[in-house]
Amino acid sequence: MISIKWRLTGLFVVMTGLSLLLFWVGESVRMASDQQKIDYGVIFLAVCLPAGVVYFYTNQLSRRMEKLHFATRRIARGDFEHIQLSDSTDELGQFTTELNSLSRHVEMIVQNGTQEAYKMETILAGMQEGVVAVDHVGRVVLVNAAAERIFERQGMNKELKYLLELTYDSELEHLVRRVLLGQLLSATRETHIAQRTVQSQINPILSGQGQVRGAVIVIHDVTELRRLVQMRTEFVANVSHELRTPLTSIKGFVETLLDGAAADPSLRDRFLKIIQAETLRLQRLIEDLLTLAHFEGRDNRIGVSSGKVSYVQKAYETIKPVILSFAQAKGIIVEVDIPENLPSMLIGENLLSQLLLNLLENAVKFTTEGRVWLHAYVSKEHIHLEFGDTGCGIPEEMLPRIFERFYRVDKARSREQGGTGLGLSIVKHMLEDIGGQISVTSQLGVGTVFTCDLPRA
Ligand code: ADP
Repeated sequence: MISIKWRLTGLFVVMTGLSLLLFWVGESVRMASDQQKIDYGVIFLAVCLPAGVVYFYTNQLSRRMEKLHFATRRIARGDFEHIQLSDSTDELGQFTTELNSLSRHVEMIVQNGTQEAYKMETILAGMQEGVVAVDHVGRVVLVNAAAERIFERQGMNKELKYLLELTYDSELEHLVRRVLLGQLLSATRETHIAQRTVQSQINPILSGQGQVRGAVIVIHDVTELRRLVQMRTEFVANVSHELRTPLTSIKGFVETLLDGAAADPSLRDRFLKIIQAETLRLQRLIEDLLTLAHFEGRDNRIGVSSGKVSYVQKAYETIKPVILSFAQAKGIIVEVDIPENLPSMLIGENLLSQLLLNLLENAVKFTTEGRVWLHAYVSKEHIHLEFGDTGCGIPEEMLPRIFERFYRVDKARSREQGGTGLGLSIVKHMLEDIGGQISVTSQLGVGTVFTCDLPRA
């Protein structure tokens, strides 16, 4: 490799030599021919030829440097295309090679960075939790889609500058400030945003030297969790209450019998009958609780894959005596209309019998006169069972709640009839378990109609 310095020096020496040689040849010719006039042509040639050659070479050099100049600007803009220079044996050639390898290196770093950023963005976008990052002065630098959704600020991501504009929560802002100032190692805050409970966990972003560079706030929507905790508490309270009522009654009557009432046969029989009824109620309650626990503990729609099938007519036959005797005792007519050749449905026979029993028993229970009916009809994907009655009906505002555990419209009446308040809840779970559903329409004093849609086998 010959360096530019030596190339230029060599060119200069050669051109000066050439020019002197030309001048000397010119002068020798002039003197030999005894010419008086100076040959300006030779002088012109002696000056212009070297100048032209040097101009040509330096022009080439400057064009290559210009090309490099544009290439470096191109790299700075993020275009990493390979640089081609015709002559690569001098310093510029070497510089070009190094620039090319630097460009490849930077390209790799940029590509890795872009991939990482994309990965991060995808993870953040797919997260259920909201994530907000702020810099050391509390300016928002990152907000994911979940955070926008939780704080109901969809599409405002780009315009956000400060946390308060996103959360409208000055207490949260205050906690973030304290974390940024190092006064708190981390902090948690729970707030309510339009019927939802939101928990924010604030943690500092630390530099390698342990300095606080910013903070990250992870936001969880804990509404469902809180609701479940509340439901569990209520459920335990309800179960305790439901168990305590018959137990208190049994205890009272046993004590009365022990205190001497057993000596009177009519009193003893009456008390023993009450004790028996309360014991049956307890037994039924525990059975219902176990059934409910069984459905709640299973994955949804597991019944579909269990592959059990059954026919309404057959299931009805098993409960018919119970329902008919119950209805007859109250003077209520039972109408059953199940078309022949009705296809089978995706539910085990025992479960179907239990479903029919629960709904027909309710229909009779809450009807004082008139009739109750069970109609079955088929559609493309479902078999529909309609349970109707001409009973007391349910107030409209209570309709959405009757499928809740232990919910009764008239508590005293339900208890009196031996109800546990769990029947509809069990039916609903049972249907959801097999991919079906239940709906209800009712009119006070006119009657109630429950419709169950069960998937065809
Ligand atoms: P229960 O053991 O009290 O019958 P359910 O869960 O079966 O419990 O029913 C919940 C409540 O829904 C009942 O207490 C009753 O108030 C109301 N209900 C259910 N079925 C009927 C119906 N056919 N007519 C009127 N009210 C009904």
